[in-house]
Amino acid sequence: MTETSTPETFTGSFTQQEPIPEAGIAAAMHVLQSGRLHRYNTGPGELSEAALLEQDFAAQTGANYCLAVASGGYAMSCALRAAGVGPGDRVLTNAFTLAPVPGAIAAVGAVPVFVGVTEALVIDLDDLQAKADQADMLMLSHMRGHLADMDRLMAICDASGIRVIEDCAHTMGASWNGVPSGRFGIAGCYSTQTYKHVNSGEGGLLITDNEELAARAVMLSGSYMLYERHLAAPGREIFEQVKYVTPNMSGRMDNLRAAILRPQLADLATQAARWNDRYRVVEDGLRGTPGLQIVARDPREAFVGSSIQFLLLDWAAPRVEAVLRRCAARGVELKWFGGAEPKGFTSRYDSWRYAPSERMAASDRVLSGVIDMRLPLTFTRDDCALIARIIRAEVSAVFQSSRLDA
Ligand SMILES: *Cc1c(COP(=O)(O)O)cnc(C)c1O
Repeated sequence: MTETSTPETFTGSFTQQEPIPEAGIAAAMHVLQSGRLHRYNTGPGELSEAALLEQDFAAQTGANYCLAVASGGYAMSCALRAAGVGPGDRVLTNAFTLAPVPGAIAAVGAVPVFVGVTEALVIDLDDLQAKADQADMLMLSHMRGHLADMDRLMAICDASGIRVIEDCAHTMGASWNGVPSGRFGIAGCYSTQTYKHVNSGEGGLLITDNEELAARAVMLSGSYMLYERHLAAPGREIFEQVKYVTPNMSGRMDNLRAAILRPQLADLATQAARWNDRYRVVEDGLRGTPGLQIVARDPREAFVGSSIQFLLLDWAAPRVEAVLRRCAARGVELKWFGGAEPKGFTSRYDSWRYAPSERMAASDRVLSGVIDMRLPLTFTRDDCALIARIIRAEVSAVFQSSRLDA
């Protein structure tokens, strides 16, 4: 490119989703025409879309039980509560995650204990080992779809009597060593919110093999005594044991959302492949950029590349800000987890002042360099290649410049 030519810019939207598939729209219309949107409002012999969704997702993940709820955050607090976590209990969780994770712990009155993050953007297993005596529950967030070495993680937790609940908001459709995420711990929690892997606006799913946890979760979600209308819940005898002692903390999913979701779940593997295709184009385009570190992915990890991260490790803040500014001017929206103040969806463990923590120097170094970008499926491969060229050019320009305000 010559000095005078206009630099390429990207004009697409980083927040534009694909439309709901036709089959989902048709199923939604059917629910709307029936007027029976509430999951327990069924006609004679009718199975509700919500109950069918639970049955579908249990089968898809291989879990015995599944519960559909109002949000991913609700699924997490419901799983914690159903597992007996209560006020004052300490819960280990990731220092690098999104605000609903410590929020779900706070929702049951428990106290988050943050565990550090590595340059691979996964939970620091040495730090987990060091803190293993501080709690008997881990709310593990597979943040941005990065899966830790789950074999080692489970070995640490099993040896210390730590139960694990998985936050799979970014790993629906992902697996470690052939085992789906959400199937390692006592429960897996998913979000079906617009920015995740399936889109019902808002919504969540909880899976488990533990019958008592499942029954408590169903009661908590607001089943009244209608739990027998569930198709992926334990038998009546388990409910008999918990129904008088489990409060109703209303958070059900409705049939409209369930109807929209079922065809999307059926397409998940195809969508994951399309995301990964885009991810690899961006990753290849960024590889070898001076000053920029690609996030290493373990071959045992089958991830879903719905977003991509890279590191500007040990860059001074004004230089990172210059990269963000210059990319934004060319239409590329990057998010930074290292900013002093939480912005948009980015915040970090020291932003959550209701949950005091000690500083973690190695994690702070990583967090200061984490740049994050969404990869909606509305991007084409050409879009992805263009975005990578823009980031590469601007990171290189700032990296090579001696001026701080590059
Ligand atoms: C979105 C998200 C959640 C919560 O999901 P909601 O459905 O928005 O409540 C939890 N954890 C992570 C990492 C998320 O990104």
